[in-house]
Amino acid sequence: MNAATGPAVCVEDVVKRYGDTTAVDGIGFEVQQAQVLALLGPNGAGKTTTVEMCEGFVRPDAGRVRVLGLDPIADSERLRPRIGVMLQGGGAYPGSRAGEMLDLVASYSANPLDPDWLLGVLGLRDNRKTPYRRLSGGQQQRLALACALVGRPEIVFLDEPTAGLDAQARLIVWELIDALRRDGVSVVLTTHMMDEAEQLADQLVIIDHGRIVASGTPAEVTAHGAAGQLRFTAPPKLDLDLLRSALPEGFTPRETTPGCYLLEGEIDPQVLATVTSWCARMNVLATDIRIDQRRLEDVFLELTGRDLRG
Ligand code: ATP
Repeated sequence: MNAATGPAVCVEDVVKRYGDTTAVDGIGFEVQQAQVLALLGPNGAGKTTTVEMCEGFVRPDAGRVRVLGLDPIADSERLRPRIGVMLQGGGAYPGSRAGEMLDLVASYSANPLDPDWLLGVLGLRDNRKTPYRRLSGGQQQRLALACALVGRPEIVFLDEPTAGLDAQARLIVWELIDALRRDGVSVVLTTHMMDEAEQLADQLVIIDHGRIVASGTPAEVTAHGAAGQLRFTAPPKLDLDLLRSALPEGFTPRETTPGCYLLEGEIDPQVLATVTSWCARMNVLATDIRIDQRRLEDVFLELTGRDLRG
């Protein structure tokens, strides 16, 4: 595959087992050049393992991975200078200073970005001389991102790049990822933040138990299932049978928490009128009537359930 024309990443039917655990169970996706792909999934879904196979740190038991047309393990020497890797939780010699670490990583690259400039962009210029172990969690996280980017990679793998960052730092990282895409860099990231995925990603892949349960653009993924939601607040324990029979087939109004009512489906003006006339007949004043398009979070929970993962 020619790196100039083919996908930046091509994952086909990969499987990875750890003992009895099948961490990744036949996953496939492509990342085009200058695109951002977000891998979403509950804890333990297999996101990190998938990314580690792309980075060449983990060998798949089955399937095929190509990054810039190369095999991440067999061709690792040729590939390493062209990719940027940010590991979950970073990792460093605790005594080394932030600036030294970035300089060292930059020295491996033929044409690195200016480390001082990058420290400035990520708000770390004052921490140049700070030993790694003295950096705050968010500063360590930003330094790990700087290390992933300093070598001007063609593709970057970012495992939870904004985990633990404050709102300001998160915005900077979002802007940086957007700027990378504009520069033609492909980005694969994992995240637990749905707003981040919606904001940044061209493509989403939702993984659960090692398998893909949904994929597509954010708009395509949120179009899955019910189209909209109507919520309202009213006195608790209203009898919903009358409303149910007045609504078109398929609508099942529910009281989600006491006094909070939810109707899911294609909410059109007639449905809204039915709800308000039912309220009038019940002599109930509904407040906080809200109609929302389904959010990614709703789709995610619907697809992956509400059970806490081990
Ligand atoms: P999180 O959101 O918690 O980071 P994840 O989606 O990245 O989760 P993975 O880290 O890929 O999930 O883990 C997938 C499964 O594989 C989990 O059950 C995990 O315990 C298991 N696993 C991952 N790495 C190893 C390993 N080196 N040895 C044994 N089991 C592993």
